[in-house]
Amino acid sequence: MKRRPLLAGNWKMHTTVAEAHALAVEIGKCSEGLDDRDVILAPPFTSIHEVASVLKDSCVEVVAQNVCWEEQGAFTGEISPLMLKEAGVTSVIIGHSERRQIFSEDHELINKRMLGALKYDLKPIFCIGETLAEREGSKTFTVLEEQLKGGLAGLSLRDMQKTVIAYEPVWAIGTGKTATKEQAQEAHAFIRKLLSEMYEKDIADTIRILYGGSVKPDNVDELMAQSDIDGALVGGAALDAESFCRIINFI
Ligand code: PEP
Repeated sequence: MKRRPLLAGNWKMHTTVAEAHALAVEIGKCSEGLDDRDVILAPPFTSIHEVASVLKDSCVEVVAQNVCWEEQGAFTGEISPLMLKEAGVTSVIIGHSERRQIFSEDHELINKRMLGALKYDLKPIFCIGETLAEREGSKTFTVLEEQLKGGLAGLSLRDMQKTVIAYEPVWAIGTGKTATKEQAQEAHAFIRKLLSEMYEKDIADTIRILYGGSVKPDNVDELMAQSDIDGALVGGAALDAESFCRIINFI
């Protein structure tokens, strides 16, 4: 089944407002005319407004890197779904491995963020992926299943229609090590099969599953050619206009 490709750039904790502006201008230019795919950018919170304003007439959407489940209150350091919507954000990355590992976010907390985002009509980009030790211990599929079941608990079929999954093997994030196209395809096929068991085949067939982990101009085409890879979540290479432009223009 053909799903509309989705290319996402995650700028993480990089870019001043001026740098974000310059990068957004370049990405806006090279995304012109790309009407057969979706392109999204996740700048730091402080640059969301600037990037959204630079890209307002383009096809590129601005998304957030995190979200709280409450709309306001005593949640120091968190960001409200309503605040994100007011800034023009439509989707949000949830469960990134850096949140899981550095900030100890567990299944329960990630699930709260998922349900919170959906309640306020923000589309989640839900990240899962195994560590190197888990892969070497043949635990990849068990870990992916636990993460999927934990993070998606309580999501309805309608919620799933708004959700994107990102498979990001932790050992490939920011390391320059990419999963081979076969490893990535195998994990994506497993995720899709599990989704068809957890929900229904139609949902599993239409949901987009992105690959993330050192996606670069020289590997994007072969990754995107895999039948269950519907897009890419890109970190490092999304901070370089030339690289990201080549990635979003994958063949
Ligand atoms: C990411 O941050 O989600 C990511 C995949 O990073 P990188 O492309 O740098 O590996």
